[in-house]
Amino acid sequence: MKAITVEPKKVGTARFEEIPEPNAGEGSILVEAVAVGVCGTDAEIVEGKYGWAPPGKRRLVLGHESLGRVIDPGASRSLKKGDLVVGIVRRPDPVPCPNCAVGEWDMCRNGRYTERGIKEIDGFMSERWRIEPEYVMKIDPSLGILGVLIEPMTVITKALEQVVTIGQRSFWEPKSALVTGAGPIGLLAAFRLSLLELEVHVLDRAEGGPKPELVRALGATYHTGSVLDLTFEPDIIVECTGAGPVIADSIHKVGEGGILCLAGVGSGGIATRAVGDVAAAAVLKNNVIVGSVNANKRHWYKASKGLARADRKWLGRLITRREKPEHFNQALERKPDDIKVVIQFSEV
Ligand SMILES: [Zn+2]
Repeated sequence: MKAITVEPKKVGTARFEEIPEPNAGEGSILVEAVAVGVCGTDAEIVEGKYGWAPPGKRRLVLGHESLGRVIDPGASRSLKKGDLVVGIVRRPDPVPCPNCAVGEWDMCRNGRYTERGIKEIDGFMSERWRIEPEYVMKIDPSLGILGVLIEPMTVITKALEQVVTIGQRSFWEPKSALVTGAGPIGLLAAFRLSLLELEVHVLDRAEGGPKPELVRALGATYHTGSVLDLTFEPDIIVECTGAGPVIADSIHKVGEGGILCLAGVGSGGIATRAVGDVAAAAVLKNNVIVGSVNANKRHWYKASKGLARADRKWLGRLITRREKPEHFNQALERKPDDIKVVIQFSEV
């Protein structure tokens, strides 16, 4: 079968090539790939900056935002041939740490977890893949190709669960939420927040393209420019850019008793505010700054239910490009109006 593989930490090694059929040891369920979403992590792996091959191997099959169709349900008692499924990305560490031991591998304490398509397990960018019954999620068939958005939705499902959990530390009646960054994660966050009784705002650099209209279609308000220029202090900020200045401004802008959830990963940035001043603002306003990554099985379940509630037409507009596997290089390229690009292996 054909797969998109890469030699991690080596730039220029990605290729679409013939590899053996998936090993039965990878799980009793055999799946035909329908589509795989592409994100910044895939680009980083291809650029040689990130990623680990499976033990004893030099190459890694790329891809973690999966959608597939069951060929053989194997040991699963709930799946049948033809069901649309997605594969959970992370696996618990082998020790396991206390969090992995109770199924909270998203909160792994020793960093020895593994991840399909990223860290030591082959991913989903192959014509066929195998998976264990406990790590597969059947999706609402009416989602079709949109099921490929479930993985990014799990990330936001966990992040918002963190926000709500932290909110319960005191009497809390949030009225406004701000999402910074209108990429797939930011737009899905805005969608999820729009289901709550909240005034939702989204801030992004893009002045044109599809983003402003996608935000307005949710009944939310679209902003460009600086967080500091907003005329309100958000009770919740979901930060999806990972950009230093946006994070610094968000810490300053979040309202009294507010929660800033950091869901974007970036690097560098020049501090424009003294750390002591940032801390003082957080103390005097009882603010919480929380980081959130990955998702466990509960979030996958909630994400697939949540996504099924979205307007299909709106969701469909998030997938701005579909590329064939042999054109994976084009899929990894960022174009100005891209939101989510997917590599399509077969028709849904
Ligand atoms: Zn762990």
